[in-house]
Amino acid sequence: MRIAIASFTHESNTFAATPTALKDFTIHRGQAMIDHFAPTFHEVAGYIAGAEEYDFDLHATLGANATPSGTVTREAYETITGEILDNLRAAKGQIDGILLALHGAMVAEDYPQGDGETVRRVRELMGPDFPIVVTHDYHGNIPEQLVRDSNALIIYKTTPHIDQRERGLQAADLLVRTIRKEVNPVTAFRKPKVLFNIAFHNTSLPPMQPIMQAAIDLEKEPGILAVSIAAGYQYADVPEMGPSIVVVADGDQELAERGADRIAGLMWAARNELTPNLPNPAEAVRKAMSASATPVTLFDAGDNVGGGAAADSTLILEELLKQKADGWVIAIYDPESVEACAKAGIGATVSLNVGGKADKFHGPTIPITGRVRTLHDGTFEETERRHGGARFGNAGLSAVVEVNRTTPGKGGLLVLNSRRTSPMSIHQLTSVGIVPQQQKILVAKGTVAPRAAYEPVSADIILVDSGGACDMNRDPSEFKRARKDFYEWQ
Ligand SMILES: [Zn+2]
Repeated sequence: MRIAIASFTHESNTFAATPTALKDFTIHRGQAMIDHFAPTFHEVAGYIAGAEEYDFDLHATLGANATPSGTVTREAYETITGEILDNLRAAKGQIDGILLALHGAMVAEDYPQGDGETVRRVRELMGPDFPIVVTHDYHGNIPEQLVRDSNALIIYKTTPHIDQRERGLQAADLLVRTIRKEVNPVTAFRKPKVLFNIAFHNTSLPPMQPIMQAAIDLEKEPGILAVSIAAGYQYADVPEMGPSIVVVADGDQELAERGADRIAGLMWAARNELTPNLPNPAEAVRKAMSASATPVTLFDAGDNVGGGAAADSTLILEELLKQKADGWVIAIYDPESVEACAKAGIGATVSLNVGGKADKFHGPTIPITGRVRTLHDGTFEETERRHGGARFGNAGLSAVVEVNRTTPGKGGLLVLNSRRTSPMSIHQLTSVGIVPQQQKILVAKGTVAPRAAYEPVSADIILVDSGGACDMNRDPSEFKRARKDFYEWQ
């Protein structure tokens, strides 16, 4: 048995100003795809492990991924999809099925639901009887058409995402059993009318935790093959935006429908618990400064890098400076300032205009004077399971600047990165010589994803209702293409 694997993943924020172009994608082809993913915790690593576990040969096409950002350009979408399809066309007759890792919230210039279009094209090319199993991120905005065009869809069950490898393995198992005709997957699909704000996506906390637990329990029942919940991705203004429930049963449509109704009912029952009430940057900084146990980590939700925001918001930095906070650390994407620091050298005093450069949503550019403490190449290794499953990070050439640091512990440390870096790994800080536990206030630009990295080093975490491309309280009137009948919007 020979199984093709392909991965084309992007979470596209339609509120982000910068489109995602072909050059933004990292692409690994053939054996390089296997070498890249095998040592990670990504679902493709699960596919690869599945080859050994369930005894099939791999046909690696390509794996393409770009950091979440704006809508994917026509050129990028058509080029990458085209290459996957060309590869499959050439392999036709020699492959028995495909495992397809797609994010679920890709917006392409011509397709509001890019992943649905990809599956549609694969189905069209390979024919109605070719087994296709798809895996998705928990933040997918899933169209019914994708569920119809695939034999089964399996979605991560955790946020932060730490079960990707297991889901990949589960998908491989299900595909193999489908090819062998041991099972006949049928799917029930629901889209409950709740927006389910990202503030409530953590699968370890209510209201999502008990709903996800019900999905896990249901999956163990006889006749059920897979039960998934996608919480949705509210920063893509597309018709399919919002949560989805996918229940796959073995040949028994009724059983799948009943299960889907059960989970959808639980999600609907949580509808009055889904409006966030969170501090703004000024309140959050005040709270952090008066905390008795440190460090307190502020999650800059509006500038959620993993959600496609700019990574250069200054809205919290502005407050830290205004309120004269001490012992803070904030990482900001600003290649221009990094270059100025590199030119000036370690120990030099620099005057910089920092952040707020990507667009008009992420605060002002702030003038800062400070001492260049260190310079780094920005690479680090993450050996633990972390959101995204990647093992190696690269924040690009990076500088640490001491701001208002008259004596040790006073003022703060500004980490300047020349690549947009989502704070999935604490090594973004430790690799530049910062000991997080010794600081008072840490700022991480994310909402839920940085938890696995920051919980072990933080006395407390405060989610901050900051503005930006990932503003959690965006007015419904700013959505043009999304459905309007969400309970929270009435
Ligand atoms: Zn996600």
